Amino acid sequence: MSQTKSYDFVIAGGGSAGCVLANRLSASGKWQVCLLEAGPADTSPFIHMPAGIIPVIRSKILNWSFWTAPQKNCGNRAMYWPRGRTLGGSSSINAMCYIRGHAWDYDHWASLGNDGWSYKDVLPYFRKLENFEAIGKVAQGDRFHGQGGPLNVAEPRYVNPLMKVFITAGKQAGHALTDDFNGPQQEGIGLYHTMQKGGARCSNARAYLEPAKNRPNLTVITKAQATRVLFEGQRAVGVRYLNGGKYHDVRARVEVLLSAGAIGSPQLLMLSGVGPKAELERHRIEPVQVLPGVGENLQDHLDIHITTIEKTRHSISLRPLALLKSIVNVFKYVFGHRGELTSNFAQAGGFIKSDDTQPIPDLQFHVVPFVYANHGQTLAPLFKHYAYTVMTCFLRPESRGTVKLANADPLMAPVIDANYLATERDMTALVNGFRKAREVLAQPAFAPHRANEMEPGPAVTSDAQIRDYIRAKSETVYHPVGTCKMGRDAMAVVDPRLRVHGVTGLRVVDASIMPTLIGGNTNAPTTMIAERAADLILQDAALQSSARNFLHEPAEPAAYAAK
Ligand SMILES: Cc1cc2nc3c(=O)[nH]c(=O)nc-3n(C[C@H](O)[C@H](O)[C@H](O)COP(=O)(O)OP(=O)(O)OC[C@H]3O[C@@H](n4cnc5c(N)ncnc54)[C@H](O)[C@@H]3O)c2cc1C
Repeated sequence: MSQTKSYDFVIAGGGSAGCVLANRLSASGKWQVCLLEAGPADTSPFIHMPAGIIPVIRSKILNWSFWTAPQKNCGNRAMYWPRGRTLGGSSSINAMCYIRGHAWDYDHWASLGNDGWSYKDVLPYFRKLENFEAIGKVAQGDRFHGQGGPLNVAEPRYVNPLMKVFITAGKQAGHALTDDFNGPQQEGIGLYHTMQKGGARCSNARAYLEPAKNRPNLTVITKAQATRVLFEGQRAVGVRYLNGGKYHDVRARVEVLLSAGAIGSPQLLMLSGVGPKAELERHRIEPVQVLPGVGENLQDHLDIHITTIEKTRHSISLRPLALLKSIVNVFKYVFGHRGELTSNFAQAGGFIKSDDTQPIPDLQFHVVPFVYANHGQTLAPLFKHYAYTVMTCFLRPESRGTVKLANADPLMAPVIDANYLATERDMTALVNGFRKAREVLAQPAFAPHRANEMEPGPAVTSDAQIRDYIRAKSETVYHPVGTCKMGRDAMAVVDPRLRVHGVTGLRVVDASIMPTLIGGNTNAPTTMIAERAADLILQDAALQSSARNFLHEPAEPAAYAAK
């Protein structure tokens, strides 16, 4: 064990949320901040070139490459769950679609007792975090968007012709169109804005860490896997981590902040003795605080796809002629960050209602111009076909899963059980979503492009057949949340200031604190959570520090105990 260093704040996890905290907490120069990230630095060019998403989703180095437990309602399939394992975390490997969710989602959080998280409360943070390039081009851009924030939000530099076809077909199917899913009207079909700058990925590491990395009061340690939170009584005082084959301890004078994501944060809490009683007992972990909600309440978006063989060859393929086009695209990218390699691929999509009784959209489409099979793990169909794929997910699933420890070894992946499709409502909504997607694909706009439906194929028409197809082929759309949920009930893990219930000096700040999954992609919401958390943390730290000065108490370690 090396000599213990002390900082004011120790952040475990340098992902979407951790990068925001590292920047905001170190900005004044007053606080010493240490960021621990299990993965390596984000130097791979595949992270930064948007089309590099396909190799990074498959990477074993930049990615935890989790697998779920067999999913009983999905033909007992174990499902692949990529999560980022590098600076920027999942924002370094994600699809870059910039979506906030619906205003209702945040009002719902507030209605569950989470004061300060209504849409009115969080909108200023969404505006603060972004530099929205298209502010003058969208309806009410000034009201809903911000400029000058760290996260650059851009219009796509390249749009595949099939995306425009999808938008026209959406209109023909009777859906509204929208130029901004994050503006006054989420509902409709349109193009996604992307988390990109100058044709390159704008991960949270690029947005928040890069500008802060030379601050003398910020220490970033990569390849540093936190293995437990250190407690003195009920107070978190530091973190143990593994780096270069050795264990090291760092002390936190003010707070420990867990930002290890929806899988990593509950795992770390349980390894540290904070979690459900039975789970701690099962693995002979000394309890610090029994909290039954740790690792429970797991929610995710489940996608079902329809792939159509294309006649007009606009799509991406690995067939010989298409490869020639790819060479041209490489040149376009290298000399000026232009062309198809600036694409996040999921350029178009939309938010629609599964039926007329829904007050707000409950389905989301993502369209990609290729055969998207098994998260890009199976490339064989790309060598055979030109095709386009529409993926549909149900936005507010009722099913709840769990993250549990496989054993007490911190280096073992936890057991993830998404428990997909556990309710009839989740299945019905997805069946409706599948039918809605097919309706759009059947419109005249697609007629010149459509050859035949490759998957599931025209024979699949009845509800029973569609259900079987969903069970056999649905996949994650990468949005796990909820495993350290914010709230005041017995299953809540953190309070509305994101402090872990029952202990002091410890917060969780990442996607795991969402009490319910929002209606959309989760990176912007996670960034908003971390922006707001940084304000809460700094407010509390300032209060504690002035109370200490007033009472002439020593700075460390006991003075921060009050919650
Ligand atoms: C393939 C993919 C596509 C996606 N597409 C989109 C999209 O288009 N748009 C969108 O908005 N969202 C998308 N998402 C989701 C979004 O990126 C995540 O919701 C968001 O990044 C979650 O942020 P987080 O901070 O909670 O976790 P993460 O960003 O995953 O960060 C957790 C970090 O903690 C580190 N860590 C974990 N355990 C430890 C430990 N013990 N010690 C130290 N470090 C640790 C991890 O390595 C990681 O860097 C996608 C996600 C994936 C994986």
